[in-house]
Amino acid sequence: MGKKAVEISNLDVSLMIQYLNEALAEEWLAYYQYWVGARLMEGPMRSEIEPELLLHATQELGHAELVVNRIIQLGGTPLLNPEQWKLFAKCDYEEPNDPYVEVILQQNLNGERCAIQRYQGLAALAESKDYATHQMAITILNDELEHEHDIEDWITDLERMKDDMRKMRL
Ligand code: FE
Ligand code: FE
Ligand code: MG
Repeated sequence: MGKKAVEISNLDVSLMIQYLNEALAEEWLAYYQYWVGARLMEGPMRSEIEPELLLHATQELGHAELVVNRIIQLGGTPLLNPEQWKLFAKCDYEEPNDPYVEVILQQNLNGERCAIQRYQGLAALAESKDYATHQMAITILNDELEHEHDIEDWITDLERMKDDMRKMRL
């Protein structure tokens, strides 16, 4: 573990490690939510949406990797047991028990909005104190903003499609 890394981080390192572990738990749950949801999903535009959801899943796993590396750099221990994921995560895991595409998208959207809060908060906490965590949080935040936007666009398109179909029936 990096002694200098801890020394220069200039903040309550144990608290930062705790928040990073919460984020780590959230990323794993987000990964699984996307991954399993994409496979169950039914409804319009499935063939376009499914690969993008799987790509998001992979990106969430990439976030977990960034976060775990930072925890170790700061001398912390990453969560070692998946049973801790639900305990640490502040973002809900929403069980995809309804496979309809709009329901799956809404669940993922809720997760993204929670993730945005998480990294906005982490970036603010680390600002001008812990530049490495600050930069990591902003990198991840930008991905989460993009994820939110992708999902909002699909929801808009699905609504649009439903509107058009309603009009055709009139
Ligand atoms: Fe993420
Ligand atoms: Fe995301
Ligand atoms: Mg995307």
